[in-house]
Formats: sequence, C-alpha cells, structure tokens
Amino acid sequence: MNAAFPQLDVGGRLRHLVTLDGLGRGALEELLERAESFAGPAGRGDALKGLTVANLFGEPSTRTRASFELAALRQGALVVNLDNALSSRAKGETLLDTVRTLQAMRVDFFVIRDAEPGVQERVARAVGDTACVVSAGEAHLSHPTQGLLDALTIRQCRGGFDRISVAIVGDIARSRVARSAHRALATLGVPDIRIVAPRAMMPEADAFAGASRCESLDEGLAGADVVMMLRIQHERAGLAEPVDLAAYRRDFGLTAARLAHAAPNAIVMHPGPMNRGVEIDPEVADGAQSVILRQVANGVAVRMAVLAELAEARRVRAA
Ligand code: ASP
Repeated sequence: MNAAFPQLDVGGRLRHLVTLDGLGRGALEELLERAESFAGPAGRGDALKGLTVANLFGEPSTRTRASFELAALRQGALVVNLDNALSSRAKGETLLDTVRTLQAMRVDFFVIRDAEPGVQERVARAVGDTACVVSAGEAHLSHPTQGLLDALTIRQCRGGFDRISVAIVGDIARSRVARSAHRALATLGVPDIRIVAPRAMMPEADAFAGASRCESLDEGLAGADVVMMLRIQHERAGLAEPVDLAAYRRDFGLTAARLAHAAPNAIVMHPGPMNRGVEIDPEVADGAQSVILRQVANGVAVRMAVLAELAEARRVRAA
C-alpha cells in the first residue's frame, strides 16, 4: 500500500476501506461500537437509503458476498452483484472501464474482491470522491472487514483485548485473514499474538511484527484464550511442494484433544470455508467452544457499520 493512498479524507474520516493499515485504535473501536449496535437480530439502518452498492467479486465467495449484500440491503441500499465481473478484463474490457460503466449507472459503492494485489487501491484512486471502495479480500494481503469481525467476536467473547493470548494457526504465509486479524488485534492492544504454522507456511521474517512464531501446535496453543484456525490456501502459489493432507492433519489439525492445551474456556474461530477433518475436526467446529457462526453473524454487522461510516463521511464531504 502506497503511504500516500488517500484512504482517509482531510477531516480524518474514512473515504474507502481498502486496508486496516494506518487506522488507529480509536478508529477501530469506533467501527466495533457501531457494529455492535447492528449485531442483534433487529439490526437495521437507513444509512444507505437511496444509494447503490455493486459487489464485484473476481474470486469465489459465499459468506463474504452474501454478508456484504445483506449488510447493504439492511442499510436500505440497492444492490447489484457481478460475480467474476472483474474477469471481463479477459474480454478486453479493462477494470476501470467496468467501474466507469457502473458509475454511469449511479453506483456509489464498489465492494471488490480480487486475486490480484492492488486492484482495490487502483479503483479507489480512479473513483476519487464520487464513490467508495470497500475491499472484500485482496490477494493474500488483506481482508479488512474479516479482521474487524474477528476483533468484534473476540471482544464479545473475551470482554476486551488487553490481557489475552491469540493463536493464529495454519497457512499464515498465504492468508489475508491472518494478516488483517494480526493488524486489527495488534492495534487494539492484544499483548500476545502467536502465529503457529509448519515452516513452509511461515511468512517472511519481517511480517507480523511483534507476533511470536511457533512450529509446534501444542506449544502454540498452550494457555491460548483464542484459537483461530485457517484453511490451506491451495489456490495460491507459494509452496515448494504440495501439502500432504494426512501429515498436516496429524501435526496441525485441531482435535478435541489438542484444544485441551488451550485455556479451558478458549474460543475456536475459523473464517470459513472449513475443511473438516483437515485443519479442524467436526467435533471442534461444532463444539461448545466454537464461535464460528457468531463470526458469520458479526460479519453482517461489521459490514453494515463500515458502509454506514463511509456513507456518512461522504455526506459530510458533499455538504
Ligand atoms: N474466506 C476467507 C478468505 O476469503 C478465508 C479462506 O478463503 O480461507 O480469505
């Protein structure tokens, strides 16, 4: 991310949400507060009344896409979904042509997921002040609303961030979920973040600043209050050898016996989609300590909050 990227406006309000980098603790806490107000079953708002949201997904998605769509609808927006819309690049239409075409149809928000780094920033620069861009996942680099929903879930279940240990386990090197969770939790003051992975899935040395690294699952889990499991990102390049799934499950799969190494009331998280029987056993995924469906519910609330925040800031700028 270019340091000069104008994610905040001159008033310090969010203009786009492409990354959590550069957002301070206060800004994150404000978003979490706002999300909390939408988190109940009655969570509705009208912050996007009269506005239109386009979901442009260039990579597969079930949860995130449905979640953004419901969030926009529950804020009163019109929604248009263009799955694989960005792949129209292959038909000769450039990404920015697609965006300008949609802007001519009065689209106000572009929710974008893409496997190519930098796409969200490129669109954000191109639309200037007339539309807002929200990242729904950028390559292996960032997934800001996932980081926020993970933080909200942890706050609800653990009461805060100041005294907890969080173990993030799995294919860290290729995980945007891990990067955004680490960014959010470090900013919110979590004192002990551990990344737990086989050596081949450890990120580069200067990434995940301040987090400890552990190549043994049992050690990484010891006394942890939060256990966040990740899927192996088979679709992304980067491993020298194919993963031996049986060996991976043996060494890094979360079983009930292994979970017993964590704190007694530890919560178990997973961003989905899960590979049951690989990184997590069904018994754990569906067990009493799992908060995986709470994460899904919080995803809608967080996205409602982000869209509302962007819409309000846009109104202030236009006034
Ligand atoms: N759904 C998450 C993502 O988009 C996690 C995953 O795919 O494993 O990154």
